[in-house]
Amino acid sequence: MSKVIKLLLVEDDENDYIIMKSVVSQIKYESYSIDWVSTYDKAIEVITSKDNDFDVIFLDYNLGRYNGLELLQEIKEKGSTTPIILLTGQDDREVDIRAMENGATDYMEKSKLDVDVLERAIRYALARKKSEEKIFYLAYYDNLTQLPNRFLFIQKLNQAILSNQRSERNLAVFFIDVDNFKIYNDTLGHKFGDLLLKEVSKKLLKCIRMSDCVSRNSANGLTDVVARLGGDEFTILLTEISHSANSSIVAERIQREFEKEIVIDNQVLYITLSIGIAIYPYDGLTKDDLLKNADIAMYNAKREGKNTYRYYKNSSYEKQNYNLLMEFDLRNALKNNELDVFYQPIVDIDTEEIIYMEALVRWQHPKNGIIMPDEFIHLAENIGIIDKVGDCILEKICIDFQEMCQSGTPIVPISINISPKQFDNVELFKKIKNALENYKIPSSSIIIEITESCVFSPRIKDNINKIINNYKEYGIKISLDDFGTGYSSLKVLQILPIDFIKIDRSFTKDIIENKKNQAIIDAILVLAKKLDISVITEGIETREQMEYLKMKKCKNVQGYYYYKPLPFEGIKEVLKKAIR
Ligand code: C2E
Ligand code: CA
Ligand code: CA
Repeated sequence: MSKVIKLLLVEDDENDYIIMKSVVSQIKYESYSIDWVSTYDKAIEVITSKDNDFDVIFLDYNLGRYNGLELLQEIKEKGSTTPIILLTGQDDREVDIRAMENGATDYMEKSKLDVDVLERAIRYALARKKSEEKIFYLAYYDNLTQLPNRFLFIQKLNQAILSNQRSERNLAVFFIDVDNFKIYNDTLGHKFGDLLLKEVSKKLLKCIRMSDCVSRNSANGLTDVVARLGGDEFTILLTEISHSANSSIVAERIQREFEKEIVIDNQVLYITLSIGIAIYPYDGLTKDDLLKNADIAMYNAKREGKNTYRYYKNSSYEKQNYNLLMEFDLRNALKNNELDVFYQPIVDIDTEEIIYMEALVRWQHPKNGIIMPDEFIHLAENIGIIDKVGDCILEKICIDFQEMCQSGTPIVPISINISPKQFDNVELFKKIKNALENYKIPSSSIIIEITESCVFSPRIKDNINKIINNYKEYGIKISLDDFGTGYSSLKVLQILPIDFIKIDRSFTKDIIENKKNQAIIDAILVLAKKLDISVITEGIETREQMEYLKMKKCKNVQGYYYYKPLPFEGIKEVLKKAIR
């Protein structure tokens, strides 16, 4: 039994509806149902609604204030593909022609309406719709993968741009190219290449369909699209990225999916993709710009070694959303062990002997290379993961220390930077103590570098003496970092048992020419001497700076003039040579 054919009549005269209904009920071959709306507005509402499942629509030419042609135009503009038959009072060739021009399937005179004419008109309308669909499919879909082709993709992208102009949402365009496709195609044959492209399309679809917060169909009816542009080039449109890092979630999901094997004709192979991403509106306002920039980004991904994804460079999006992406990456960095520690010696200015070394964290970002602490420590604080970051660094330092002991490398104490938010945490002391005990590291080998902000943090300032004494009693020394940049440095020296102060690099930088900075450094040196605190001057880069400080009897220095921060293997070599 075939399905009921659903008809809609748009007609302001109820009598005409009754007649139509009666004619329809007399048609034999199939079963029909007919609905009726009587106004222009109601017709628009019903026809453009998502639930419209009418098979054929009949439009009366005379619709009160409007005529059926106007309605026809509006319906077509709104993208309806339901076949429409225009009904008129008397035969009017002019109207007929205009109806056809505006996309009507057929034109009928009401007075000539009978069962046979109507049955035939409906049958023809349905057949025509079917062949139109077929033509549409051929024109807008890729025959090999059944994915939308370039034309449809561009159309969808355009629709998405128009609809997002009114909202604050972003769109992401991915331009994807299969790495080394030509080699597979040339060596294994075109048939194999075709099968490979089919597998690629399946995997891409899978990555988009996995429903999560990233790629739901949005409220305005837009859906994410995977398309094949041609050859081994694919594109993806993400229509509603609520969070800017979402597009990298999808890119990474795709990469993970492609880490899995592909089996074609019993052959197992692994392929990779290069992906370029452009974000609307940051990387372009038009379909052409977005596609072009995603393509450029894809080329950058290729150039930087393939099997990776890249955002369009110089993108203001990239800058604006840098933090969001970094946040996402930083959380992963902890899981993936991407934090590394470098070490920079602090030396005796007269003997150049290494007194201790400062541990400086580095982030080995899988895509962006080494990222310096100034770029992510703040972020870690702001997103509340500084404790975890600190734990990771502490653990790495302990492992390095233990390794040096075991390999017979000469040992010097290590200073560890503690940020104010870490120091706030009452658990910190216990954590450090446990770590040292676990790794059998003497407490005398550890110095913590804190800043004035640590000391004056509202959460701990009343207990600061007690907290500092915990460390001191346990044998850990305290160094006051970035000295001189705060506002109450002297008070700190007065109230707390500080072992070292480090004069900030901003004073050393222009020490030769800047008389004020000279005066400040002189004063600090004198004061520290009286209080019996060791001073380390940071940021010595030149011989002149070194000589000036030597003359002023500054005993300890740190800076590129002596050593740059070095990776673990490098510092081991330095220690072996320097200390015998
Ligand atoms: P800081 O504690 O003042 O560290 C000294 C910084 O000066 C280091 O930068 C070091 O590489 C740099 N430096 C040393 N000598 C010279 C020199 O001669 N010339 C110049 N131009 N720079 C020199 P880095 O490693 O980028 O660290 C920056 C800051 O990040 C540190 O400043 C510290 O506040 C923070 N940091 C570093 N590692 C850690 C860590 O493990 N935990 C926490 N919480 N913060 C850290
Ligand atoms: Ca420091
Ligand atoms: Ca410093």
